[in-house]
Amino acid sequence: MRSVFREDHNMFRDQARRFIEREIAPYLPEWEKQGIVPKDIWLKAGEMGLLCSTVPEEYGGSGGDFGHSAVMIEELARVNATAVGFTTHSEIVAPYIVAYGSEEQKLKWLPKMVSGETIGVIAMSEPGIGSDLRSMRTQVRRDGDEYVVSGQKTFITNGGNADLVVTATKLDPTSKELTLVCVETDRQGFSRGRLLEKIGLKGQDTAELFFDEVRVPVSNRLGEENLGFKYLTHQLAWERLIIALRAAQSIETLLEETIEYTRERKVFGKPVFDFQNTRFKLAEVKAQATMLRAFVDSCLERVMRSDLPADVAAMAKLMGSELQGKLLDELLQLHGGYGFMSEYKIGRAWVDARVARIYGGTSEIMKEIISRNL
Ligand SMILES: Cc1cc2nc3c(=O)[nH]c(=O)nc-3n(C[C@H](O)[C@H](O)[C@H](O)COP(=O)(O)OP(=O)(O)OC[C@H]3O[C@@H](n4cnc5c(N)ncnc54)[C@H](O)[C@@H]3O)c2cc1C
Repeated sequence: MRSVFREDHNMFRDQARRFIEREIAPYLPEWEKQGIVPKDIWLKAGEMGLLCSTVPEEYGGSGGDFGHSAVMIEELARVNATAVGFTTHSEIVAPYIVAYGSEEQKLKWLPKMVSGETIGVIAMSEPGIGSDLRSMRTQVRRDGDEYVVSGQKTFITNGGNADLVVTATKLDPTSKELTLVCVETDRQGFSRGRLLEKIGLKGQDTAELFFDEVRVPVSNRLGEENLGFKYLTHQLAWERLIIALRAAQSIETLLEETIEYTRERKVFGKPVFDFQNTRFKLAEVKAQATMLRAFVDSCLERVMRSDLPADVAAMAKLMGSELQGKLLDELLQLHGGYGFMSEYKIGRAWVDARVARIYGGTSEIMKEIISRNL
């Protein structure tokens, strides 16, 4: 029983779970081989009202809150489907447009993002920079009623499928200030590089994007000039909590799975579960998972009250992702050789979890943020 959720959240969870079990989980291995999720699944999820759940009704959404978002994030994590990049689209890109978009932009882009016709991505990282965002180099210059964007982005989640790229740019290369410009991917001068080959999250298309003098109308700017960094950081507490929510769910799911596996697997004539080492390991995981859940739920309650401080969100991201790495490793060990086989959930979850300590701000950056308030 988790007090953070209401009845409408629980009903939404039933709907999300049914959809994910039927339409996503069985196809994950196939999508992993292809390195990309078909666009079709976006349309199906959109039809079921599972994308962009916090978008207000006047823009085609269902006007949900962070509780609905958390449900969807957890349900995807439950079947280890983080590679299906709905979360970046629904929980990061759409909220930027809701928060900072003009009425015209909201009416133009949000309904199609809700339906899955338009896939939105956020492009900040470049080959030369990731953590040090303010040093990025992608440039924008104004030419009459247009902006001209030039530069290169990398590691962009859903980059291969993207239709709309919220692009972090600089008007003045010597300044630290950023300007967010929305670039439709059918604009001349925009191109995608290859899908990047990764060690995990193999079904997620992660791409390089190139901007060669791409012209967009000035009305494609999101918010004001030079305030992009402020906009990007405003949402960061929630973005970091997303990773903690996934971690808590992933640990709980894999713990259940490992309890079942060790009860069935017999070694030296008895179930692996019966060795004291196994039960102690599982008990340790359970205790840590329970503590993580309590903390993450308290953060979720705070974010729902618009009261989640940046350092607390950083603690959730740091501890969630670090624990996920450590505990999934322990659970994998209890599977023996089968833990190393792709067909077992634990192996895939273990490798997919590695990136949680890197993206959304690395563990080291989380420690920087936390230490500023000591
Ligand atoms: C699968 C995947 C998906 C991604 N999706 C997106 C996306 O959709 N959009 C997007 O814009 N980006 C995305 N990224 C990029 C991601 O946000 C960056 O990889 C991340 O921010 C780290 O940046 P970097 O890779 O340049 O590492 P670097 O910044 O080069 O860091 C290298 C090392 O230095 C450490 N370090 C850096 N600064 C400090 C410091 N001040 N103190 C101590 N140590 C430090 C880091 O912690 C790290 O260990 C994605 C990355 C991956 C792997």
